Amino acid sequence: MRKKIVAGNWKMNKTLQEGLALAKELNTILANETPNCDVVIGTPFIHLASVVSAVDTHKIGVAAQNCADKEAGAYTGEVSAAMVKSTGAGYVILGHSERRTYYGETAETLKTKVELALKNNLIPIFCIGEVLAERESNVHFEVVKSQIIDSLFGLSAADFSKIILAYEPVWAIGTGKTATAAQAQEMHAFIRKTLASKYGKEIADNCSILYGGSCNPGNAKELFSNPDVDGGLIGGASLKAADFKAIIDAF
Ligand code: PEP
Repeated sequence: MRKKIVAGNWKMNKTLQEGLALAKELNTILANETPNCDVVIGTPFIHLASVVSAVDTHKIGVAAQNCADKEAGAYTGEVSAAMVKSTGAGYVILGHSERRTYYGETAETLKTKVELALKNNLIPIFCIGEVLAERESNVHFEVVKSQIIDSLFGLSAADFSKIILAYEPVWAIGTGKTATAAQAQEMHAFIRKTLASKYGKEIADNCSILYGGSCNPGNAKELFSNPDVDGGLIGGASLKAADFKAIIDAF
């Protein structure tokens, strides 16, 4: 059975002190609870080690939001997958549309990052999704399929089985405009069919596919009730512990 997951993406928000306070607040809220899903928080690099120390990592997984496409060496300002792993983080968000758009991350770069993440025993949360013009011209399925094929379909079945996918229509990220439950389900089912065509039904059925894009306490339940939507990647609403908890409670 595939896992249900609610993952937060803090993006470039919160100082170290603010981030630690948020992580501790969430940890306290969840202390006496057993959520019906896995919970992950994606923090800035410099928060990782402190957040890992501050939370019960059996209950709250910790993710980086990126890693380098090189193993080590003279790459000023970069952070390697091995460094992320050494903080105690277990996950890394890769291919977020903001990284693709603002930092020119290509399918090829992302393929390398995924491979390095897996080599260092990090679980990639790999983001895919179309921009508005692509949906309006009805090429959204092809766009998403290409993103998957170009960065992930070189992986062995064993490695692919470790990946979490996040479908994030770019037009819904941070805009307050959410995909309808029907649009999310339609794309998630298409993604699962695409995975099955390469890796077979069992691996496709076991892959967690999260929805991301203006998911909030008001719409999470409807989105998560779709058979192929296995949880959410949450941006803005992950910055307030109560809102994030309400989304976790949607399961
Ligand atoms: C995201 O950044 O992955 C995201 C889904 O953001 P938001 O929830 O703010 O739309």
